[in-house]
Amino acid sequence: MAFGKVGLDGAEQAASSAPPPLTVFNPDAPALGRRTKPNRELDGIGPKTAAIITEVATTGSTAYLDKLEQETALTVGNGNELVSQLKGDLHVHSLWSDGGAEIAVMARAARDLGHEYMALTDHSPRLTIANGLSRERLLQQLDIVAALNDDLAPFRILTGIEVDILEDGTLDQDDDILERLDVVVASVHSKLRMERREMTRRMITAIANPHTDVLGHCTGRYVVGRGRPQSEFEPEAVFHACEQFDTAVEINSRPERLDPPNDLLALAVETGCRFAINTDAHAPGQLEWQPYGADKAVETGVTIDKVVNSWSADELVEWTRR
Ligand SMILES: [Zn+2]
Ligand SMILES: [Zn+2]
Repeated sequence: MAFGKVGLDGAEQAASSAPPPLTVFNPDAPALGRRTKPNRELDGIGPKTAAIITEVATTGSTAYLDKLEQETALTVGNGNELVSQLKGDLHVHSLWSDGGAEIAVMARAARDLGHEYMALTDHSPRLTIANGLSRERLLQQLDIVAALNDDLAPFRILTGIEVDILEDGTLDQDDDILERLDVVVASVHSKLRMERREMTRRMITAIANPHTDVLGHCTGRYVVGRGRPQSEFEPEAVFHACEQFDTAVEINSRPERLDPPNDLLALAVETGCRFAINTDAHAPGQLEWQPYGADKAVETGVTIDKVVNSWSADELVEWTRR
């Protein structure tokens, strides 16, 4: 513990008459060893704090601070082991739709994070608010990605799309293009308040589409600010369809989404689904958000053998072409 170490160093250095180091609590504290007055008489230090300082200075710790540390400890980090086994990210945006950086910038950032690949999944045409890509623009993007891949090898940008699940469950891009892409993430972005039965039918239609590889942020919830409630659907039926049609359930790591919530994620685990732990990054720094999703995975019992982005690019593409 940092404070205990500072306290001990202070005592040692005072004894050897070296200049006292700073402490986190009070600049007077390093002088403990040189003053004859009891600690509690130091200016600005009450008897309780003085007792704690004395205890830490003599024993290196105190039950009071240990308890405080335990009570305030963050649980972040449960997923570290899992994160270290991920080889890529399957949900990344660029300037081509509503992202904030060029494809090359996102790709280099992903590579520098240690990823072997990232799927470039810009939005589909009907999401005009996010500058969704027309058929023509997406075809243009494929040429650019091919050229970039020559530069960046062995790192690989997988071609892809975050395609809108339309109200009838069909996907917002032509079949021949979806067929060509390495990774298709299908997400609901409109009519999130659809009636439960209809939403279930809509989602299952998309999940069963042979082009769909990953079901993106399935509840659509927002957990920060004013928030947004989850879409209503029959989770047993939806996750059963994911398992049946081998469509991975996305664990969306964005701090404002953290979707699906852990009770639904646990249900998906129980149902035997596969998962993709994605950042949905819209800027290079956001590629570092995978640990948030990995923490959720560990909390709900997701095992690495079920995580499709723990596979190599070749294994992954073999799966998406299934
Ligand atoms: Zn989305
Ligand atoms: Zn997205």
